[in-house]
Amino acid sequence: MMWCPIRRLFLLLMVAVGIVACGSDADLTGRQAVSPSITSTTTTTTTTSVSVTTTSTTTTTTTTLAPELAQDGDARVIRTTTDVVLPVLAVLDDGWAVRTPCQRVELVTAGTPIERVHVVVDAGHGGTEPGAVADDITEASINLRVAGLVEEQLTDAGFVVLGTRYTDIRVPILTRVEVAEAVDAALVVSVHHQGLGQLPRSDTPGTEIYYQQNNEESRRFAGLIREEAVKELGAFEVEGGWFAGPDVGATTRPATTGEDFYGMVRRPTMPAVLAEMSFMGNPGELALLQTEPFLEAEARSITAAVVRWFTTDDPGSGFAESSFTISSSGGGGGLGNCTDPDLGPTAEIPPDFDVASVGSP
Ligand SMILES: [Zn+2]
Repeated sequence: MMWCPIRRLFLLLMVAVGIVACGSDADLTGRQAVSPSITSTTTTTTTTSVSVTTTSTTTTTTTTLAPELAQDGDARVIRTTTDVVLPVLAVLDDGWAVRTPCQRVELVTAGTPIERVHVVVDAGHGGTEPGAVADDITEASINLRVAGLVEEQLTDAGFVVLGTRYTDIRVPILTRVEVAEAVDAALVVSVHHQGLGQLPRSDTPGTEIYYQQNNEESRRFAGLIREEAVKELGAFEVEGGWFAGPDVGATTRPATTGEDFYGMVRRPTMPAVLAEMSFMGNPGELALLQTEPFLEAEARSITAAVVRWFTTDDPGSGFAESSFTISSSGGGGGLGNCTDPDLGPTAEIPPDFDVASVGSP
């Protein structure tokens, strides 16, 4: 919505700065020699160019990388005052009709409306589903930290990013995917960490990135994450060496049905990957996962891959055959024993609102 005018302004300003910079010395000398009144004009120009330079420097850092998003003012998702991210089903007079994580329809009356985004960053697990646990540290909490850092880094690069959760709550996969679809995300990355405790050792990181079997752009994104992870994480020393299983690299995990096993890979209509960044089950890696520089490096692996996916045709690398097939589709992230999180202020759904008309995700 805002990039195009800003970029245009930026280009105009660059032209202005360029003109002043190119000829300034000669012009100043010449004009000063001719007449004091022209000198005063020149001084004004110089002052302007200084302030212009400041503006363009600020602008550059926030506009150069992300493509333009076509926004239309429609609230597609609400981030509630309690930080729950919910798909909007309808905009009503008193607020937004949303689908809750337990698949009920509620009327939320306060929150931040979200329009389209470039990327959805999904922090795996949460709440009553902690994911892997090692030394009382939950995978859900590490995933949330890394996802938050990715959002920060991408936002700094000018991208519009949305997380699927910002707190330690359980969000079913159905909700996560419905959110990504609602905001028209071009790309989805689901952040995870492996819990397995017995794997071969390796000199290079064992990061596994699962892509959609029938999506070339998902595959390319996975290969880019793999490349960046080897570079960023490989800079760290791991006591005892990295874990690396048979699925190391950019690969797929099919179910026996032929579909992709993971719901966050199978369900989205846009390119999506699930990235197991490192191994909580490896004490050396778990120690690193408790340090800020390592979490930032994991985030940078994803951030750099996102930027390259949007701005280059780089093919990625580190592709591997899938090592095995899982007998069922999906596991975890379902709706059993569902308790909705606190959604902040809500109101009664008006009697004339047809809840059935909004369907199911
Ligand atoms: Zn996980």
